Amino acid sequence: MKTMEARLLKWKRRANHILGINNLKICGRYGNALNEDWTFEYNDTIDTWGTCNYNIQQIQMTTYAVEVLKNSMIEDIICHEVAHALLRPEPFTNILRNALGEIEDEHGKLFQETFKEVKVKAKL
Ligand SMILES: [Zn+2]
Repeated sequence: MKTMEARLLKWKRRANHILGINNLKICGRYGNALNEDWTFEYNDTIDTWGTCNYNIQQIQMTTYAVEVLKNSMIEDIICHEVAHALLRPEPFTNILRNALGEIEDEHGKLFQETFKEVKVKAKL
């Protein structure tokens, strides 16, 4: 069994890989493509699995997730936050607009489609 330290390193590499492939392959598609400044870090919170911070261009995941969750769930947290990163809301708001200019919930249809695409790419 891997040590916790090794598992944390493994998932940090995995998160950076997923950030990287999205930078290369979705660039321009949503008009909010990731750039190379996005990073991944752990935190020690116990009330949220993951977060996406647009101000510092960083996705975060709690170390607790790596401790207690199955691999597929950890992967989903990372892909979920990368999807949020790709779908940056309009400045100073939480408003997310789809390709038709319609306002969508932050976990609405556009988000679900983007999340699925990130997951598929991560498996390639
Ligand atoms: Zn979310």
